[in-house]
Amino acid sequence: MKQIDYYHYKTATILCHKCGWSGFGEELSQGEIFSTFMELECRTCAEKLVIVPYPTLETVLEKGTDQEKESARASIAFREKIIASEITKKSDVPPFLGPLSISLLENYIEGQNYLDIYVNGTKIWTEQVYYEYGTRVAEILDVLQYQYPNQIARVEYEHTYLFCGDSSYGAMAVKEKVAELTKAYLENK
Ligand SMILES: [Zn+2]
Repeated sequence: MKQIDYYHYKTATILCHKCGWSGFGEELSQGEIFSTFMELECRTCAEKLVIVPYPTLETVLEKGTDQEKESARASIAFREKIIASEITKKSDVPPFLGPLSISLLENYIEGQNYLDIYVNGTKIWTEQVYYEYGTRVAEILDVLQYQYPNQIARVEYEHTYLFCGDSSYGAMAVKEKVAELTKAYLENK
């Protein structure tokens, strides 16, 4: 399958190797839609012909219409706000003694979703999260593991739609991480 840039696929000339149809990319039929790209199919025989990766927000800022640029700027600001709220360093995590119970609890305030991080019942951090934040939970547990090696006896988190959405990848990553942490605790206590 041929890959064509989002800003050029409509005017690209396409030949279907299967049925011989030819025309412009904009005449192709919409095929399957994925999170990072879409497929376009031959309009007569439905053969998959073209992959179009979605432009990054940075590319939209360069090549998009004024309206697209405005919405890209809003998305970038949102993304940066989330990144700025993330717990990332050992110094973000206060020391605790003894076996630890970690809780990651969702909080919804004024239209935004947050995740509160508790250690033995004390809230140590709040970060902003969005849809399918499961993979982020695995990263948070990495940071906690670095500060509390072999101390984490229990991890509690919420299995909501916001946590895993349609994808099971994040949930799997978290499950594996929790198993690793509790195993280290049991082997070293
Ligand atoms: Zn065809």
